[in-house]
This record gives sequence, structure tokens and C-alpha cells, in this order.
Amino acid sequence: MSFVAQWDPKALWGHFDTLLTIPRGSKEEQRIREYVLSVASRQGLEVQVDATGNVVVRKPASPGREGAAITVLQSHLDMVNEKNADVEHDFSRDPIQPRLEGEYLTAQGTTLGADNGIGVAAMLAILEDRTLVHGPLELLFTVDEETGLTGARGLDGSMLRGRRLLNLDSEEEGTVTVGCAGGADTEIFLPLETLPAPSRAQAYQVQLSGLHGGHSGLDIHLQRGNAIQLLARMLHSVRPGTPGYMAAFEGGNKHNAIPREARATVVIPEGQAAEFLRHMDNEFARVWEEYRRVEPDMRLEVSEGPPPPKIWSTDSAWTVFRLLVALPHGVAAMSHDIAGLVETSSNLAVVRTEGETLRVLTSSRSAVASALEWIRSKIRAVALLAGARVEEHEGYPGWKPDVDSPLLKLFQEVHRRVTGTEARVVAVHAGLECGIIGEKVPGMDMISFGPQIEFPHSPRERVKVASVERFYRLLTALLEEMATR
Ligand SMILES: [Zn+2]
Repeated sequence: MSFVAQWDPKALWGHFDTLLTIPRGSKEEQRIREYVLSVASRQGLEVQVDATGNVVVRKPASPGREGAAITVLQSHLDMVNEKNADVEHDFSRDPIQPRLEGEYLTAQGTTLGADNGIGVAAMLAILEDRTLVHGPLELLFTVDEETGLTGARGLDGSMLRGRRLLNLDSEEEGTVTVGCAGGADTEIFLPLETLPAPSRAQAYQVQLSGLHGGHSGLDIHLQRGNAIQLLARMLHSVRPGTPGYMAAFEGGNKHNAIPREARATVVIPEGQAAEFLRHMDNEFARVWEEYRRVEPDMRLEVSEGPPPPKIWSTDSAWTVFRLLVALPHGVAAMSHDIAGLVETSSNLAVVRTEGETLRVLTSSRSAVASALEWIRSKIRAVALLAGARVEEHEGYPGWKPDVDSPLLKLFQEVHRRVTGTEARVVAVHAGLECGIIGEKVPGMDMISFGPQIEFPHSPRERVKVASVERFYRLLTALLEEMATR
């Protein structure tokens, strides 16, 4: 037992202390699931596990509250296993070592697993508490949230009878989350016409780098540069008639990251390189001027490289530039319901030259299903205009904010009473399990809230200790209030 087991609320921290000793990386939830099942069976509660490994524990209402509507509580069982390079730690075996750092609990060089371990521990505490006043509860523990929400995706929605859900996976005290974005990727395959490279020519590698990048959803509103689009724009703007042939274009590496780097292979006839390089320098200077505040470290580097066997035809090169310049990137629409929230966006994420094909990956997001379709149809239209083939991957649904939700109103009342402050209503431009659960269980009224957790998914992850007690008090007060309706 570690020092955290002594903290209040004891039931919650006691379970969290045990969680620190149970390996629970994504897709390795076997042991943590057994722990949840053992706690439930000690209480004699009914449990159900679906084919994906998600668990529902049913806890009957406290005496006299049987008539209240069912409330679903939800947290995910898995955590992100990350450690500092200089730390010896085997996540499949070693317990996480908690460390108190001022008013925060953190771990020794590893992630702490407060995301979403505090939520899991709170639910286990509620499950065991015989004095709490509440209506009928369904406690849903999902698996594998952190690597693509696959637990929620595989959820058997028929396990849930309740139609109001409290997700406990939020990380900012004082806020309540009421929406998230859905997302879907589109792949574009553009055929390239190639020719033998000219013999008296020099090949250059033109590289744009030093951009910030960031998360394609959570950082898209920052309007940082997209290396792919900016390099394509510079090459596209180089005055027609300037000598040079394209032979390759590459950039980006993940669908959910804004590309930080892009490079092109350009072949220039002997004696004409200086003119091309001067044009590129001018174009870079113009772009840098536009982006200098957000991308001060952006740089363009040109180096001589080995000559490629083939070059693209002039028509193909123009088509590539036009495609990359025309594809949407960035914020496409802001929410009308929540000020400052990005509703729809797209990320021009990855470009690769694969033989005679240019492959482009884009990733789009929206809280509104029809708007996601709209931005994807725009991408498809641009690609088809360029003569490319399009593959649209299956996406995941968003959660459109419902600012008139009865559950939200109730939460706001209880929040005001318990904390003396107004809860800030927010939505995130990224995927959450609620988006998927809402699709699996139509008519589910949902909100998400939690304690103050900072730097999740990194070895700096920490939870503000006092916020956990306040979170639990808020949660139990809310359950008590919900037991009356
Ligand atoms: Zn989480």
C-alpha cells in the first residue's frame, strides 16, 4: 500500500492505489477487468462482459429510489504507457511509483494513469458504497480507449438500459464537456506520367522543415503552417517557364498530426539551377513573412542529391501541385452553439510518391455528421477533378453539443450548489468515446467531467490531489439529485 491509500475519499484513493499495481496498457486490460469483476462480485452485483471485453456492472437503487431513471457511469480501463528514456520500468510487471509534487500526484518517470484511473476508482468506490443515495446505476468500464476508441466501437449497446450517461474521462476541473468531433480519412491515388530523367541535369532535394505541427484536431485552430501545402504552394508559384522537373514529393507521417516537414526531388538541367533556386528563395521569403509569428523556425533547405531514374511529365507535376494546393486544410467551420469551438476541419496529412502513383492521405473531423460528409465530398471533388482515384475510409461518429440537454441543466445546478461556481461548457474537436456510445445507444443524454489532470499520456502526467475530492463530492451530489428524477 502506498501513501495515496490514506487520502480522502478513502474508498476512491484505496482503489486508485491498487490500480497503480495492476498493468493496464491498452489492449492488455485482462487483469484490470478481473479486478473490477472481483469488486463487483464481492458486492453480489450483476455483471455483463461483451465480446470486446467491456464490462457493465448493475447496482440497484438505494432504498426508496427504485423509481428513478437509470444512470450510466463510464470510464475506460486502459492507460497510456509512456516513460522517460532514462527510467527502468517494465509496464507489464512493475507497479507505478506515485510521487507527491506540491499539490499534485505524479509518477516517477512514467505516466500515472490518472487518465482514466481516477474515474475507474471513483466508480469502484460508488459500487461499494452502501450509504450513498442514488437511483439504479449501470457502471460501464470500456477497454482500449487510448488507441482508437476500439472498446467503445465494439461495445454491445444492448447492455445499457439507461439513457443518461456520465463520462468521467475529462481532465479540466470546472468544465463540463458536451460534444466532440467525429472523424474520417480519405485516401487519394493520383496516377503519374513519368519520363526518363534528362542526362545533363542535377537533382536537388528541396526540404521545408522546422514547423510546429501538432494534433490535427486539438491544434487545428492555431492556424499553423502545413509543410505539405506550403511546399506545394512554393513549387506551384515558381513562375511557369522556370526550368526544372519534379521527380518525387513526400511529407507528413500520421493522419492525426499536422505535417511538420515536406520534401520534393527536383531535377534541373545543367547550368539553370541558380534561377530555380532564386525563385524558391523568393517564394519562401513571402511565405515566411505570412507565418513568422506562428512558425519562426520554418526553414527551406536545398541540397544536391542522386539523380532519380525518372521524372514526372510537366502535366503530371502541375496536376500534383494543383491537387495539393486545392485540397482543404485547416478550419472549415466554427460552431454556432459554442463560442470558439471548431466544428469542422481537415488535415492534409501525408503525401508519398510510390512508383507511378502519388498517394495522399487527408483526415477530416466534424461534430456534425452532415458537415463531415460535406468536407469529405469537397476532398473527393478536388481529387476527381485532378483525375485521381479516391478511397473513403469508414470513420467514427461525433457528438453534437446539445446545449438544451436536461442532464446538462441538472449538472450545472448541482455544480453551482456544490462548488459555488459556474461550470464552463465546452466541447472538443477530437474523438471521444461518447461520440461512439451515442451512436450505439440512440437517445443517450451525455455529459463528461472529471478532476484536474495535466500532461496526460506523458511521463509528466499529474492530477491535482484536492480536485479529486471535489470531483467525487460533485459526482455523488449529482447522483443523489438524479435519484429524485
Ligand atoms: Zn482518457
